[in-house]
Amino acid sequence: MQLLLKRLVEQNRHYTKYGKVANYIPELGKMDPDKLGIVIVDTGGKIYRAGDYDLKFTLQSMSKPIVLLLALMDNGEETVFKKVGKEPTGDPFNSMRKLETLSPPKPLNPMINAGAITVTSLIKGKDSKEKFERILDMVRKISNNPRLNINMDVYLSEKKTGDRNRAIAYFLKDVGILEGDVEEALDLYFKQCSIEVTCEDIANIGMFLANQGIDRKTGKVIAPKYLTQIVKTFMVTCGMYDESGEFAINVGVPSKSGVSGGIISAVPNRMGIGVIGPALNAKGNSIAGVKLLMDLSRELKLSIF
Ligand code: GLN
Repeated sequence: MQLLLKRLVEQNRHYTKYGKVANYIPELGKMDPDKLGIVIVDTGGKIYRAGDYDLKFTLQSMSKPIVLLLALMDNGEETVFKKVGKEPTGDPFNSMRKLETLSPPKPLNPMINAGAITVTSLIKGKDSKEKFERILDMVRKISNNPRLNINMDVYLSEKKTGDRNRAIAYFLKDVGILEGDVEEALDLYFKQCSIEVTCEDIANIGMFLANQGIDRKTGKVIAPKYLTQIVKTFMVTCGMYDESGEFAINVGVPSKSGVSGGIISAVPNRMGIGVIGPALNAKGNSIAGVKLLMDLSRELKLSIF
């Protein structure tokens, strides 16, 4: 396995040249586009690492399935899905195009920014500090890494420049989907996106989802199985933005990408995979990371379909 991973990383590394790092969040623009790394954690607890696996990066949209899970645990399905839908959009992750045409005007799913900001606003807590602590605590628990924290530079950079998300959130407040304080919801969303991780952390998160919400080490149930199934289904239908259909055909594994170039994959009952490759394709997914997962899926027959 170790040798296979090493070979696949080197075989796909040249694809990084064809992508670009995200620079609409200025701090993300500083990432090294040539990097490519992967970690696999299997159900037996074996860990395999290759390439630039020790690179640090932020969760960005990979935080969306985790916060969705917490919001579902906090509020139940009915309350959450009154506010966000269950359908793919076919539009980019930060699109506002359809929002005004929908009736009711709720975001189509929780993996696009409009849906994710709405979901974040549903997290319970007595104040914004406690709400963020609950999100961070959940991420720490499911990544088996109690040391995780925010990358302040990335957080402040997005907070300063995130006007598109601000526009989306204020629109949602106007139509009654987002309730409460808009700036608080946005601040929480920017913070969850800025949690700093490595491939091993997100491979553990993938493993937790692959393991149906049960902590692999302690056997403790952290989240109900049926809620982890909902989250993984969204990862299949909407997890790779408007490239989710193609990814499902080529890789066939529930996955969620982020504009930092990370991808979390959960192969049900088999393994969690964490990939980093900051150079992105036109849809905002890691260009070499997707190719690497395609090869890996073929070699190990990972497709769930
Ligand atoms: N923080 C980013 C944003 O809202 C996350 C987007 C992403 O990873 N696709 O723009």
